[in-house]
Amino acid sequence: MMAMIEPLADRADPPAVYTQAAPPAPPTSPLTGRPHVVVAVIGAGFTGLSAALHLAEAGVDVAVLEAKEVGWGASGRAFGQVVPYLKIGHREILRQYGPERGARVINAVAAGPDLVFELIARHGIACWAVQTGLIFAAHAPAGRRDLESRTAYWQDRGAPVEMLEGAACAEAVGSSLYAAASLDRRGGNLNPFAYARGLARAAVAAGAVIHTRTPVRGISRRDGCWAVDAGADGGTTGGATRGTNGGTEGLTANAVLLATNAYTGDLWPGLRESIIPLRGHGFVSAPLSDNVRRSILPGRQSLTDTRRLFSGVRMLPDGRLHGSAYGPISGPEPAADFRRVDGRVRRLFPQLGAVQWDAAWSGWVAMTPDHVPRVHELAPGLWAGLGYNGRGIAAATLMGRELAARARGAGDDTLVFPLVPVRKLAWHRAAPFLAGALAKWYRVLDVVEELRFLPKR
Ligand SMILES: Cc1cc2nc3c(=O)[nH]c(=O)nc-3n(C[C@H](O)[C@H](O)[C@H](O)COP(=O)(O)OP(=O)(O)OC[C@H]3O[C@@H](n4cnc5c(N)ncnc54)[C@H](O)[C@@H]3O)c2cc1C
Repeated sequence: MMAMIEPLADRADPPAVYTQAAPPAPPTSPLTGRPHVVVAVIGAGFTGLSAALHLAEAGVDVAVLEAKEVGWGASGRAFGQVVPYLKIGHREILRQYGPERGARVINAVAAGPDLVFELIARHGIACWAVQTGLIFAAHAPAGRRDLESRTAYWQDRGAPVEMLEGAACAEAVGSSLYAAASLDRRGGNLNPFAYARGLARAAVAAGAVIHTRTPVRGISRRDGCWAVDAGADGGTTGGATRGTNGGTEGLTANAVLLATNAYTGDLWPGLRESIIPLRGHGFVSAPLSDNVRRSILPGRQSLTDTRRLFSGVRMLPDGRLHGSAYGPISGPEPAADFRRVDGRVRRLFPQLGAVQWDAAWSGWVAMTPDHVPRVHELAPGLWAGLGYNGRGIAAATLMGRELAARARGAGDDTLVFPLVPVRKLAWHRAAPFLAGALAKWYRVLDVVEELRFLPKR
């Protein structure tokens, strides 16, 4: 029997390592009554908050409705690297979108980290933000060729991207495991939960209203407006009939922006079935000793490599090691299991010795079959933006700005991501099984390549 995917059913909150270091949440409250706003935004992650901030700054009356709390979804659980790329490379983007639109997408996504760090600077968001660059290491010859090709593409366009070879690579990583890596100085890393809170605070300061603990139960067209049925959560969230008021509360709006990404439920037919939610995992250690922490990623970049299954590592400002590793990609929230991340980081950094792991968490990533984000006009005045394939800190911030522009009447020709129809995946119910099988296959390929190409330890 195939398990249904219910991301909103997760009980755990974003990790304490992020929440305890975040600035206070802005004033928010559950929705009561039935106000009218110009734009209603559903979901308070990077997409929804960026949309609300850009709308409020343009003087638009906007309300955000969030089932849980600001940053509760993927935004408050992300690994934290701010990436100037989509999941697929420039050649594939040009193939999918064509030369003109493809170049627009590539360039806008590449400028995504600047958008994020500029918002952080302008609104004084305290979120560990450092634009020190990203290191992508090659785990095998094919990965190295990909990195060299990407580096050459960006160097031709004057971007600060370089290959690090041999000793330079070992010094930047703090490990001799890899022979080569690329360093892209446009990227950086941050505390994603704190960034979400900062965006929320900036949006509220600009005039937006945020209603937390306010699950939306339905959207319908009524008297020339959108009627958004939502209201105080009666203890559980995400269902169609829950809450305390039987669907009589909510708000009306001229336009609605759906920003629920992997946590998308059944608010609009077919939307949930157009993406594949996969579980991503984060792990954090106790603070390391001073000399060990100084030896790892001394330039404060985050590190990933070219293996198929995501594996990031970075040092947090208080000397904790933060890693991600392959784990169950569907099903209920798993108990903490540190074996995979432990094996990975101790192979990478033998100087670590025994690591004390303090916490593990997980969240849902929205994948699309072609690995590009989607913008849909579901009906006149109703848009959705989603599907960042695990690269959403910059791309969702950009998407929020785009959705805000659409709600203000901007057309496709002035925007980055083109409107596409919702494509319901016929095999959606089988997605957890298929994705699980694919991940196991990828794991086999990764291990074979690791054994062939990386030095034995
Ligand atoms: C473990 C992990 C690691 C990641 N690492 C990175 C990384 O290093 N770099 C990177 O760029 N990206 C990363 N990502 C991806 C990134 O976090 C997401 O792409 C991004 O946060 C998506 O933002 P969002 O606002 O679209 O969605 P979310 O942040 O998921 O927000 C959606 C919100 O909608 C709310 N919602 C859903 N249904 C309703 C409803 N009916 N009514 C009201 N509210 C509702 C949810 O409660 C949720 O808060 C990672 C993701 C995960 C899970």
